[in-house]
Amino acid sequence: MSIEIALVGNQNSGKTTLFNQMTGSSLNVGNFPGTTVEKKEGIVKHHHEVKVVDLPGVYSLSPYTEEERITRDCLLHAEADVVVNVIDATCFERSLYLTLQVIEMNFPTVLAVNMMDELRASGRHLDMEGLQQALGIPVVPISAFRGEGIEELVIAAMTSAKNHTLPRKMDFCSGPAHKAIHSIAHIIEDAAVGAKLPIRFSACKLVEGDDEIKEMLALSEGDSQMVEMLVAEMEQRLGTDRDAAIADMRYAFIEQYCCPFLKGKSVDKGQSRSIKIDKLLTHRILAMPIFVGIMGVIFYLTFGLIGPIFNDWMAAGVAEITALTETILVDLGLNPVVQSLIIDGAFAGVGSILSFLPTIILLFFFLALLEGSGYMARVAFVFDHLLRKIGLSGRSFVPMLLGFGCTVPAVMSTRTLGSDRDRKMTILLLPFMSCSAKLPIYSVFTMAFFDHYRSLVMISLYVGGILVGILCALLMKHTVFRGSPMPFLMELPSYRIPDKKVVAMNLWQETRDFITRAFTVIFAASIVIWVLQSFDLTWHQVADSGDSMLAGFGKILAPIFAPLGFGDWRCSTALVTGLMSKETVISTFSILVGAGDSVALASSLGSIFTPLSAFSFLIFTLLYMPCVASFAVTRRELGSLGKALLASGFQTAVAWICAFLFYQIASLII
Ligand code: GDP
Ligand code: MG
Repeated sequence: MSIEIALVGNQNSGKTTLFNQMTGSSLNVGNFPGTTVEKKEGIVKHHHEVKVVDLPGVYSLSPYTEEERITRDCLLHAEADVVVNVIDATCFERSLYLTLQVIEMNFPTVLAVNMMDELRASGRHLDMEGLQQALGIPVVPISAFRGEGIEELVIAAMTSAKNHTLPRKMDFCSGPAHKAIHSIAHIIEDAAVGAKLPIRFSACKLVEGDDEIKEMLALSEGDSQMVEMLVAEMEQRLGTDRDAAIADMRYAFIEQYCCPFLKGKSVDKGQSRSIKIDKLLTHRILAMPIFVGIMGVIFYLTFGLIGPIFNDWMAAGVAEITALTETILVDLGLNPVVQSLIIDGAFAGVGSILSFLPTIILLFFFLALLEGSGYMARVAFVFDHLLRKIGLSGRSFVPMLLGFGCTVPAVMSTRTLGSDRDRKMTILLLPFMSCSAKLPIYSVFTMAFFDHYRSLVMISLYVGGILVGILCALLMKHTVFRGSPMPFLMELPSYRIPDKKVVAMNLWQETRDFITRAFTVIFAASIVIWVLQSFDLTWHQVADSGDSMLAGFGKILAPIFAPLGFGDWRCSTALVTGLMSKETVISTFSILVGAGDSVALASSLGSIFTPLSAFSFLIFTLLYMPCVASFAVTRRELGSLGKALLASGFQTAVAWICAFLFYQIASLII
């Protein structure tokens, strides 16, 4: 016999941390909402018959966002055997709001009160026995982070599942809402049983005006009218609308019957400290400059101060290994064509990319610190206001931020956005957020042409991408995407010292992805490019790569880019191969100019570009359509190939126009 546990809770309540503790796995834990989008499954350690599912964080069980829908369906269709509702003990009152809704579903439920370590540290105490009595479900205190109480929780959940223990029948409604819910429950009883829906939950949802439940119940015309009449009467007597009536009722119950079990002063150290820090960091006027300042410092450290040192070491290492391999190959007396394939193809391609690993790790280290400390959630909050002005909501901030890492997970995370409009618009704008694969391109070009202003040029590219995104958003808001974004509600986690393990995990994932890409996509691309640039159409080896079939192809496209200042066939070729993955732009150049590492490459680029055309090239690479992997997810999320092609076409057109304007105007001035 197997048991399935579903973890349900608010965002940031620690579900994923608990999941990792239970299963011994290491999923991404994030200190901002929206990190877990899809549900993840695992087998519980020491209890191999038990499966656990990590569901996305929700605040209610209304079907408005994708997360709410996933969680609600899981409960409605009894996909699991027992629900573990994870709550954050430090925001006890607000967390129970969801708990009451889960209890209404009338499903075996265990309450896991998480973050007990923080609660203790704040000098407060929670009476578990009393809470258990008040709620009518088993309550287990845990600290997912420290691994406390996990075994007890698993046992409690298994017991509830085996005995199919339902929450004790109780009534947490009062006043006019009470009357409405009970009368409606009476009317819909048969329909609910028929549709296999929990009666009390359905009645509450009808009071709230949930159309989906209404449809599932398939009430008769007469019953529907009765329900609406009862709701109207309740609204009139309470003087509030239907949503507020139910919310008020739940909070009233929590305040009266649950809050007394929490003893001690109400604001804990972490929270009061957070409130003080927030006064400054989310200040109406100062918030934005502070954010820009912090990012500026991070960029300076990454690209200006520390990054280059490591990069040079790495490049030197790569050069050493390449030289060593070459000697060995010569000693072995291998066929010169094969030698060239290995050294000028594979080594040049992969090697030129590997030297950027330190910069990328460094950047992600800083971002992981910001995220782990809780600052990123504040930034999302601060940006909500601005994002609204351009027709997006603060919710889009998380995908946008992920977009600076890689567009693929960023596009996937747009599923957390409530409305289709917000989603599509965000997906279209995401490629303008400069992804980390473009870093090697910026690094080499700034090294070659703007050595004294490296961090400045980097920042201008990142900011430029954002500005173009904003302009496009404004354009879309007034044309294709009229309407307004979904409201954004988010709670801010307390500031914490970032967890070492979590930061290390994030870095490891980034590093692994990067290295995997270098040895798969880029490796393959390097070999293909080497072959195409070494032979002509009759498969004879060419002395000058300008006569190769690659050159032939590049020359067809070259005129398109001539007005942007880079009409050389090697540029158009690099841009096309860059569609496989953006780093390939650099590995292609390395192979084409015969440079073994990034330093050699930087010094050879002078023969292809002027500083002006180099900057124009950077603008184009910043903005043009993303790589095939992103294209594939965009296609999936937008639902059709046509729409994805349209999106890519739009992005490439924007890139061309921006680079064109820059190059032409700058040429006039300089
Ligand atoms: P989810 O959104 O519910 O999946 O929450 P996560 O598992 O991603 O955790 C959110 C944050 O809370 C992370 O920074 C965790 O390290 C932190 N956290 C989780 N459990 C605990 C705990 O028991 N104690 C403390 N102090 N922090 C925790
Ligand atoms: Mg999570």
